[in-house]
Amino acid sequence: MAGAKYKRVVLKVSGEGLCGPDRVGIDDDELYRIAHEIKTVVDLGVQLAVVVGAGNIVRGAVVARDSHIEEVTGHYMGMLATVINALAVQDTLEALGVHTRVQSAIGMDRVCEKFIRRRAIRHLEKGRVVIFAAGTGNPFVTTDTCAALRASEIKADAVLKATKVDGVYDADPQTAPNATRYQRLSFDEALHKRLGVMDVSAFDLCQRNRIPVIVFNLKQPGNMARAVQGQPVGTLVD
Ligand code: UDP
Repeated sequence: MAGAKYKRVVLKVSGEGLCGPDRVGIDDDELYRIAHEIKTVVDLGVQLAVVVGAGNIVRGAVVARDSHIEEVTGHYMGMLATVINALAVQDTLEALGVHTRVQSAIGMDRVCEKFIRRRAIRHLEKGRVVIFAAGTGNPFVTTDTCAALRASEIKADAVLKATKVDGVYDADPQTAPNATRYQRLSFDEALHKRLGVMDVSAFDLCQRNRIPVIVFNLKQPGNMARAVQGQPVGTLVD
């Protein structure tokens, strides 16, 4: 396999990426498949940090809409749920022989480390996969913002946004059969066309810190490794 173009990357995996067809919970086959893809990237010598979402368990805005729970509480529930997913990703990676550390933005000493930027970088330099859990630690944003924030903090060369579609389209490919995928976009184009690649705050951080975002299909085997090698995969926003 050719060497990597991006030496240090942040991979964002949404909670839905971890679940099976029923779109809730954690599916071991999906988890194992993702862990295997991650291992191929680590084997290329790439320093990899992972941010996991929690849409398979709870999203703050949905909780608030459907219950008597306050929205802010829902967001904290969402952040705690990302820790559950992070632990699942951690053990599955370790089962494949990949060394890992989970760092949480919300302190929980019995379960994982706290997020400490310099320590995270040190782990990466030692070849460990760092899994960032509990989002940013702040409500009202999503784990996309966490991915962009951590990528900016650790000076990542790229954010890989794993999704269930092949990249960024000019319309929703699930409802518009003629939707066309962009291979490459500038940040400005994506903003003006309101393509919703990521949250606005996440997008803004990546643009400001000149961190390219690669949106790709997680279900396609080999995509993650191709993306870090700079091969055309999904959509590159830079
Ligand atoms: N969340 C939050 N702050 C953060 C990250 C996440 O409040 O910094 C909450 C928010 O409610 C979000 C939920 O955690 O909806 C789960 O994260 P996300 O929606 O990003 O999960 P994904 O869609 O990636 O599975």
